[in-house]
Amino acid sequence: MESEIEEIAKKIEKGERLSLEEGLRLYDAPLLTIGELAKKVKERLHGKKVYYVYNQHINYSNICKNLCKFCAFGKPKGDPQGFTLTLEEIEQKIKARLDEPIKEIHIVGSVQPDLPFDYYVELIKLVHSLRPEAIIKAYTITEIAHFTEISGKNTEQVLRILKEAGVQVLPGGGAEIFAQRVRQKICPRKISGEKWLNIAQIAHRSGIPTNCTMLFGHIETKKERLEHLIALRELQDETKGFICFIPLCFHPQNTKLSHLPGPSGVDILKTMAISRIMLDNIPHIKAYWVMLTPKLAQVALNFGADDLDGTIIEEKITHMAEAQSPQALTRAELESLIRETGYKPIERDTFFREIN
Ligand code: SF4
Repeated sequence: MESEIEEIAKKIEKGERLSLEEGLRLYDAPLLTIGELAKKVKERLHGKKVYYVYNQHINYSNICKNLCKFCAFGKPKGDPQGFTLTLEEIEQKIKARLDEPIKEIHIVGSVQPDLPFDYYVELIKLVHSLRPEAIIKAYTITEIAHFTEISGKNTEQVLRILKEAGVQVLPGGGAEIFAQRVRQKICPRKISGEKWLNIAQIAHRSGIPTNCTMLFGHIETKKERLEHLIALRELQDETKGFICFIPLCFHPQNTKLSHLPGPSGVDILKTMAISRIMLDNIPHIKAYWVMLTPKLAQVALNFGADDLDGTIIEEKITHMAEAQSPQALTRAELESLIRETGYKPIERDTFFREIN
């Protein structure tokens, strides 16, 4: 086994691509060995830079008709914890922060059964008019699929309308684990993995880059994780449209899968590192501090991640699953987390362009 890992390590150091089997074998290597390998890949790409963004999250609704079993955020109609914001309420949230140098507005919600397509378009136009200098990163691929259903338009048309309204990037949520075996059990009403990849491909071809995600640490096997990563890598070979990969660790609290333990710290760090190693064509790997906690996200910077996400200001999705992280971090807090690891904090925009 040791010699096998040594052979894989040599390939990584030479910048060669790993197969699914080699990626799987890495899970058996000692944690610090994988961490060192991922760190080398990350530093080859980004040197000592670690990125963050000054951003604001808007979650417009959590009323959802999909009700995925892993999700504590989505609520059925009539649930006392359910909410849908009016455009006026969203306007207030944006106006309340106009004095801050926000560079990105991240907008996601649920598969809302009642809102018309116009609401989603007007929401983008409103935010864009209030914050023309900020990049709007909005709507998961699951939401885009829902918009095609409610509007009667095809994916290209929906994306063109949203782009004209002001959407520049899709955040890449809804990927979960592509394996249909898993989706049938944890999110049977959600679009298939194949459909997710198809919409991402159309977005990239339409000039809308996206991020991409993987929700791990529930019922999926390690092989299904590797298959997921390789599907993303293959699409990236074709489109070059993924900016950043975000491994999202499952939070069982308040979900229908609350009997599961969720991923361990070692599993999270190994998955972060293996993602960096396998996704040799996706530029950035994010340690999303909301899900990881700022402390573990900080450690993940030594396991292949080069981005901490951002200030966020108000986060609902993971906090409804009792995330232990705060609702927001200041720029100074993010910079200090990064500096403590020996890396250099770099403020970025959504496209990872550096901000002075
Ligand atoms: S993950 Fe998304 S689609 Fe699934 S229940 Fe939660 S909000 Fe709804």
